Amino acid sequence: MYKKYWFYIVLLAHATVILYFWAMGSGSLFRLGGASAILALGRISGLILVSMALLQLLIMSRAPWLEQAFGLDKLARLHHKVGKYFIIFLIAHPLFIILSYAKFSQVGLVAEYLTLLKGDEILKTTVAFLLFLGIIVYSLLRIWKNWNFERWYYVHLAMYLAIIFAFGHQTELGGDFLLSKLFTDYWYLAYAFVAVNLLSFRFLTPLLLFKKHQFFVTDIKPETANVTSVYISGEKINEFPIRSGQFLIVRFLDKTRWAQAHPFSLSKSPDGKTLRLSIKASGDFSSEVSSIAKGTKVLIEGPYGIFTATRSRTNKTLLIAGGIGITPYMGMLEELSKANKDVVFIYGNKTQEEIALREELEELAAKYKIKIHHVLSNQDASTLSTRHLALGTIRAGFIDNELIKKLVPDVQDREVFLCGPPPMLNSLLKSLPSLGLPKNKIYFEKFSL
Ligand SMILES: Cc1cc2nc3c(=O)[nH]c(=O)nc-3n(C[C@H](O)[C@H](O)[C@H](O)COP(=O)(O)OP(=O)(O)OC[C@H]3O[C@@H](n4cnc5c(N)ncnc54)[C@H](O)[C@@H]3O)c2cc1C
Repeated sequence: MYKKYWFYIVLLAHATVILYFWAMGSGSLFRLGGASAILALGRISGLILVSMALLQLLIMSRAPWLEQAFGLDKLARLHHKVGKYFIIFLIAHPLFIILSYAKFSQVGLVAEYLTLLKGDEILKTTVAFLLFLGIIVYSLLRIWKNWNFERWYYVHLAMYLAIIFAFGHQTELGGDFLLSKLFTDYWYLAYAFVAVNLLSFRFLTPLLLFKKHQFFVTDIKPETANVTSVYISGEKINEFPIRSGQFLIVRFLDKTRWAQAHPFSLSKSPDGKTLRLSIKASGDFSSEVSSIAKGTKVLIEGPYGIFTATRSRTNKTLLIAGGIGITPYMGMLEELSKANKDVVFIYGNKTQEEIALREELEELAAKYKIKIHHVLSNQDASTLSTRHLALGTIRAGFIDNELIKKLVPDVQDREVFLCGPPPMLNSLLKSLPSLGLPKNKIYFEKFSL
C-alpha cells in the first residue's frame, strides 16, 4: 500500500520541478500577455507533453517498485488513460509555439511554420509529431474496428522513435532550458531515470532470467475443447520467485511465435519444478498453443501481479471467476484454505463442458472443504450433471448480485476476489458495492492489459 506513495512522490516532485523552472524562465512572459503569454503556454505544454511520454514509458517499464505497488494490469489501465490526454498537449504545444511566433512576426500560421521548418530540429520534431499522431489515430481505429492486437502493439512501439526524434529540439530550442543549465541537467536526468528502468526491467531482466532458468516447454495437454495447458520447466525453478495468483509474460521462441509476448497466469501452485499455464483459445496466438513443440525455449518476463492470497486480511473470502479466470485461483484456493480461511468459490462458465480444470478443482474442494458453486449461462437447467461435484452447487444462470446473495448470504462480511474477462468484471465491480461491500475489500485481476 505504502509503495504507491513512492510513485506519487516522484510525480509530485517532477511536477514541482518543471513548474518552478517554467515560472523562472517563462513566468515573466506569461505575465506580459499577448503573444508572449501564448509562447509561455506553448513551453509549459511541451514540458507536460514530454513528461507524459516519459511517464508512459516508466509505467510500462515493468519496474518492480511500480509493479508491486499497483499491479501490471492497473498500470496498463493508467497507461491507456494517460494516452487519452496525450493528444491535447500534442496539439497544444506546437500550436501555441507557432501561433506566438506568427504573432511576433505578424504573419500567418502556415507562413511561420514554413519559416521554422528551415531549421533541422523543427523538421525532426515534425516527424516526431506525425509519428505520435499516427499512433494515436491507429489506436483509436483499432478500438473502433477491433483490429489485430499484435499489429497495433508493434505500430505503437514507433513511440520510441518519436521520442528520439523529438529529443534534440527540447534542449536546443526550449526557452526554459536555454535559461537554466540546472534544468537542462535535470531533464537529462529524467530521461536517464526512465531509460535505466526500461532497459533494466523490460529488456535485461528477462534475458538474465532466461540465462539462469533456461525455461523450456516440457508438455502440452488439452484440458477442454478450447483450453490447453502448457508445462514449462528449466534450471533452478525452485529459485524462481513466483506465487500462486501471479502471471508471466511469455514468449515461445519458435519460428512463428518468437515475436509475440502474451500474459498468462500460473494455473497450479508453484512446486519448484514446473510452471503450468492454462490457455483458452481466444485469438490467433492462443488458438494455436497446442502446436507448440516440446522442448521449445521460453523467454519469461515476471512474475507480475499483486492478485495473491497475501492480499487477504480477514478470515472469510469469496472468490469469483469467469471462464479462464479460474487460473490464478488454482493455487490461491489451496493457499487460502491452508491459512484456515473460510473460502467460497463461484465459478461462471457458458456450459458444463467448458469448465476448465474441473476434476482438479473438485479434488481441492473435497480436500479443503471449499464450497464451489458452478453457474452456467448457456446451459439448460434440465441437463445439469452433478458428476464430480464435491461440495456446493451447479446451476444455470448468470453471476449477479441476486445470485451471489442467495449463494453467499454473509457476502458483506467477506473479502471478494474477482478474476475473468473484462465485461464480467466491469459489471460486478459496479454492482458489488450495493451488497454492502466496501471497494477496499474487493480485489480483482482483469485479463486485459
Ligand atoms: C494478467 C493477465 C493474465 C491472463 N491470464 C490468462 C490465463 O491464465 N489464461 C488465458 O487463457 N488467458 C489469460 N489472459 C488473457 C490472454 O493474455 C489473452 O487471451 C491472449 O493474450 C490473447 O492472445 P491472442 O493472440 O490469442 O488473441 P488476440 O485476438 O490477439 O487478442 C485478444 C485480446 O487479448 C489481449 N491480448 C492479446 N495479446 C496480448 C498481449 N501480448 N499482451 C496483453 N494482452 C494481449 C488483447 O486485449 C486482445 O484484444 C491473461 C491476461 C492478462 C492481462
